[in-house]
Amino acid sequence: MVAEGDGALRRSGGPQPPDLLRLHEAIAGLFATQGDWRRAYQHLRSALEIARDGSLRDALTSSYNRRYLDERLYGPFTDRPPLGIALIDLDRFKSVNDTYGHLVGDRVLCRVADLLQEELPPEGFCARYGGEEFVLWLPGVDAAAAFGIVDAARRRVARHPWSELQPGLRMTISAGLAHETPGPETPLSPERQLRSADALLYAAKRAGRNKVAYRDAQTMQLITHSE
Ligand code: GH3
Ligand code: MG
Ligand code: MG
Repeated sequence: MVAEGDGALRRSGGPQPPDLLRLHEAIAGLFATQGDWRRAYQHLRSALEIARDGSLRDALTSSYNRRYLDERLYGPFTDRPPLGIALIDLDRFKSVNDTYGHLVGDRVLCRVADLLQEELPPEGFCARYGGEEFVLWLPGVDAAAAFGIVDAARRRVARHPWSELQPGLRMTISAGLAHETPGPETPLSPERQLRSADALLYAAKRAGRNKVAYRDAQTMQLITHSE
């Protein structure tokens, strides 16, 4: 099983995963030629684990990818309830590409992914949903804590020294947060939550961007929050 909440698989110095994979493959081959099948098998298993982990990571940002998210959305549900799901979209990101070029845009995406992955709850994770959209999966935290996590991420992005990457650059995110506590009659449905988060994200955009939108469980009022 892939480690949760780490987000730090890359850039840690030493051999990077594809190199490690080839290394394990090569060592397995060596042991196989010597007839040491047990060791060959062990190294092939390690290579397989690295390949599987890689298949669940986004190639650009190394956050989890859509495949991993879909496994969690539609696969057997193993999280401790309650669950918060936030859909996050970079604000006016097209103009970053248009103004500074796609390479800078790619670096911005990587940095935002890093900032989103800070301070997640123990079983939480960040996945790239597609393009410039990410999902934060926040299990085992109440609505106030989930909101605190998403809003702190929004502030980290807004306050990041973007001009060090490119003079004049600024970046903010908008987020829709759907939080659910299951009851006996209403089991959790992460898929439904993601749809709500999507609608709330558009509310945050309409409210002016750099905002987190969520629906208060008691009043069902739409709240958009920013500094
Ligand atoms: P809004 O605030 O309404 O979200 O505006 P926006 O400009 O962020 O939204 P829009 O959907 O118009 O543009 C999204 C842009 O994201 C367009 C696309 O080129 C860019 N994008 C998507 N994936 C990548 C990527 O992997 N790298 C780069 N550099 N850009 C990407
Ligand atoms: Mg978008
Ligand atoms: Mg956008």
